[in-house]
Amino acid sequence: MLRVIHNVADIDFDLPGKHHYQVAFHLDGSWGYSLLPLTIINGRRGPNSNGVLCFGGTHGNEYEGQVSVKRLCTGLDPEQMAGRVVLIPQLSESACIANSRTSPLDGVNMNRAFPGNPRGTVSSRIASFVKTRIFPLGRIVVDIHAGGMEGAFPYCTSFHPIPDPEQRSEIAQVSKLFDTPFALIYSSDMASGLLTDEAEAEGKITLGGEFGAGASTDRLGVRHAYEGMKNVLRHYGLLDGEITKIRPPDSSPTRLIRADKLDAYVPAPRDGIWEPVVEPGQAVDRGELLGRLHDFSDHSSPALDIVAPRAGFVAMLHLGARPRKGQTLFVVAEDLDWREVLN
Ligand SMILES: [Zn+2]
Repeated sequence: MLRVIHNVADIDFDLPGKHHYQVAFHLDGSWGYSLLPLTIINGRRGPNSNGVLCFGGTHGNEYEGQVSVKRLCTGLDPEQMAGRVVLIPQLSESACIANSRTSPLDGVNMNRAFPGNPRGTVSSRIASFVKTRIFPLGRIVVDIHAGGMEGAFPYCTSFHPIPDPEQRSEIAQVSKLFDTPFALIYSSDMASGLLTDEAEAEGKITLGGEFGAGASTDRLGVRHAYEGMKNVLRHYGLLDGEITKIRPPDSSPTRLIRADKLDAYVPAPRDGIWEPVVEPGQAVDRGELLGRLHDFSDHSSPALDIVAPRAGFVAMLHLGARPRKGQTLFVVAEDLDWREVLN
């Protein structure tokens, strides 16, 4: 049963069992609402100090998070659970409806809107609601992303460089529960206002991840996100059972890679037609050809070779065929030993 909420004070966040809501955020310029989907589960097997908060659809054209979080909304059984889980499958609900990265209502990228403003535009008010009403409900925060129309990534979980060694180690441990081929430490300097920035700063065990690309619904990406979240619930004792392997049993352990400095995010030197020649996740040597930029204003002109500035793993490739000058063309991340981040 779905209940529309006009006043957040009407939500009993401690109510035992599973409860589905649509939280109504009024539109800025017309009569109507963005109806934010929210499911709160308080397991009937007693309390657990590790509440889990999980978000999909922070970007509207990334579907692996929307689908996997929705499946958790319908599939999790409070009778079999301890503690609290809060699920928001379409955080930027208006962007999800529009199949776009940003909200068409206010042009805001929800993952740049934090900490938000209770008197701001609709995206800013939703961010503020998450910061002030949802974050206090849990200690573990997972925000499930994909490349959208921006980039092709290998399946990976991700987190920023975390100064506190205890928090860093626990985040790194949780990142392995998704059994992705890679866990990526990414730069905090590329952008600000991220949901994960805010949660990390509060000391929460905070994880992001890239689970597909191209505004599609990637089958394996959904599997990593959905089964990975169930592993998180098992790891913290909200669900019973053993941590399950998600990839085939003989696959290699999750590899930790690092692109924590801005110079790893290499811009396209000019407009062009992009011909990548490597795969996301592929190991490359320094100087190895990553792709070619073609100029069709003179089809007899040689292509501009784009080569790896260092050895490592391809963590991101521009997805579309037509990068503009200055757009991030690729990221080569370096290999890192898990002992650098685990206590
Ligand atoms: Zn995203």
